[in-house]
Amino acid sequence: MDEIRIENLEIYAGHGVFAEENRNGQPFFVNATLYADTREAGQKDDLTLSTHYGEVSHLIHKCMREKTFQLIEAAAEYAAEQVLLQFPLVKSLSLEIRKPCAPIGLPFESVSVRIRRGWKKAHLSIGSNMGDKEQYINEAVEKIKAHSFIKNVRVSKLLVTKPYGGVEQDDFLNGAIELETLLSPIELLHFLQKTELETGRERKIHWGPRTLDLDILFYEGVISQTKELMIPHPDMQNREFVLKPLAELCPYYMHPLFHKSVKQMLEELPR
Ligand code: ADP
Ligand code: MG
Repeated sequence: MDEIRIENLEIYAGHGVFAEENRNGQPFFVNATLYADTREAGQKDDLTLSTHYGEVSHLIHKCMREKTFQLIEAAAEYAAEQVLLQFPLVKSLSLEIRKPCAPIGLPFESVSVRIRRGWKKAHLSIGSNMGDKEQYINEAVEKIKAHSFIKNVRVSKLLVTKPYGGVEQDDFLNGAIELETLLSPIELLHFLQKTELETGRERKIHWGPRTLDLDILFYEGVISQTKELMIPHPDMQNREFVLKPLAELCPYYMHPLFHKSVKQMLEELPR
């Protein structure tokens, strides 16, 4: 990715743990590197195809001034989030806040935090086999689209499948979703679990009927092996009802552990 950089933007603000800091303020210095594709803007010499560093500087200045945080971590989090939300060509950014007059009581040059944040591509599976299945799925998709930290949502066609796991129950309706998000993997999981509950998920038996199931299949190239969150989804390669709708959205997307595309995993399923 190309970089657009803002260096040592000086902002007088009140962030700090002590009341005097909030009251009197002190200088902060912000360094930001915006990662974006600048090629087309460069070839056409057209600012509307790029991100205006002046506007970004003013937004960071506003973020640093309009709220008073205790921590520069919090100020950085807020400013980074606002830049990513308001400048869609910025895919990710690195944002550093330095505080050279921090009340430490020892000689030092500066203290700082630097964070890296960005839009991450994630793939989900969605399924229902109770009640008005299509209605539950549509409702969940609307909630996902409405989240301010989620954009570019694509939904596959829905597929009717026979239940899995040997419990006597109604057919499933399954689909896949692709999106970009500012949520971390665990934040995305918690949002999906909340959405499941809100759309009336009930389930009594393991692998039994449920109004809605939302699972994370992939999250960028992330590999997570905790019990709470397994990414890539540990059983996806064995499930036609996951791979088929996913292949409609991203056939050549690579599984980060098996190094096989979605299409290839689908083709390799036993008949
Ligand atoms: P399943 O989806 O396996 O039929 P549940 O939806 O009830 O069952 O999920 C059970 C648990 O799976 C949840 O508590 C959740 O923390 C965990 N889990 C682990 N990895 C994932 C993932 N990739 N997506 C969704 N849930 C996951
Ligand atoms: Mg689940």
